[in-house]
Amino acid sequence: MTPTHIEHIGIAVNSLEESIPFYEKVLGLKCYAVEEVKDQKVKTAFFKVGDTKIELLESTDPEGPIGKFIEKKGQGIHHIAFAVDDVNEALKAAEANGVQLIDKQGRKGAEGLNIGFLHPKSTLGVLTELCDNK
Ligand code: ZN
Repeated sequence: MTPTHIEHIGIAVNSLEESIPFYEKVLGLKCYAVEEVKDQKVKTAFFKVGDTKIELLESTDPEGPIGKFIEKKGQGIHHIAFAVDDVNEALKAAEANGVQLIDKQGRKGAEGLNIGFLHPKSTLGVLTELCDNK
C-alpha cells in the first residue's frame, strides 16, 4: 500500500452550522457539500484545501461513532484518511502486517468513496481511514 495523498482530515464538531463560519470566514475556504451519511449517523460538510479535504462531522445520534467520540473527547480531530488505489487490497495488506481492522472490506462513505478503517490500537492512536475513488 502506498497512499498518494491525504484525502481528508475528519474533524468532529458539535454543530456544522456553528463550525462552518470558522472555515469560511477565518480560513477563507468554501463549503462545497453538506451530506448526511445515515449508516455512520453523521452529517458532513466538506472544504477543499489543494488535494486534501476537511470533513466536518456532526453527530445525528448520541449512540453513533461521532456522538460517542464527542462525549468522550470533545470536539477535535477524529481521523485521517489516506487515498489509496484500492481499499480492499490496502485493507488486506494492512491485515497481513498485523494491523487490526475495523472494516474487513471497503464500504460506501461520503462522496461515493469506498472507505475502510484501521483500528487506532494498531495505528498509534490515530483512527486511520483508507479510501479509493473507483
Ligand atoms: Zn473520513
